[in-house]
Amino acid sequence: MSDSFEKVIKGYYIDPLIFTHKFVKECDVCVCSGECCYYGVYTDKKEYENILSMKKRIIKSMDDSQTTNVEKWFEEPEEDEDFESGIAVGTELYNGKCVFLDRQGFCTLQKIAMEDKEYKWKYKPLYCILFPLVIYDGAITVDDEHLDRMHYCNKKENQTSTIFEACSEELEFLLGKDGFSELTNYRQEYLKKNSNEVK
Ligand code: SF4
Ligand code: SF4
Repeated sequence: MSDSFEKVIKGYYIDPLIFTHKFVKECDVCVCSGECCYYGVYTDKKEYENILSMKKRIIKSMDDSQTTNVEKWFEEPEEDEDFESGIAVGTELYNGKCVFLDRQGFCTLQKIAMEDKEYKWKYKPLYCILFPLVIYDGAITVDDEHLDRMHYCNKKENQTSTIFEACSEELEFLLGKDGFSELTNYRQEYLKKNSNEVK
């Protein structure tokens, strides 16, 4: 399926839908409560191992809406080629949200990085960073299925931007500066070819 997309950057096919799909200008957990984290996420095996190696630090920053029982943090590993190691491990839900989501709608993995003055996404799973983008079948595309469940960022009246514009930092994180620059050029070509206005 993905090889029907013509452009490849850094080994990923590019689904042009990311250029035109509408989205909110930016995430605001004060409004959405971090709803996209209510379903958990699949981590790569390496991310899962890293998270477990930091369990004491993570527990220190959890609140009483979260479980400190490490046994309840992850599902059983499963094979999945869209993950670097070929193995995905899902986070469990607790109190109706990902075990790492706190009461205020913040991800504890991002919170501890910021508390410790590290890069904000140092410990955060890639698929959490990317959403509403996803890597599916080797292509960077839109996670329509999950986005359809959202009550804030999937509402037309709130979607004043596009996923590309709202997620440029995430795309640069994934592709690097040069890859992102190539993507920006491809977007301009694509929109021109399809007679859309380049924003
Ligand atoms: S993706 Fe949507 S639900 Fe998730 S933090 Fe952003 S605005 Fe909120
Ligand atoms: S790990 Fe963090 S960002 Fe990812 S789903 Fe859980 S709470 Fe959300």
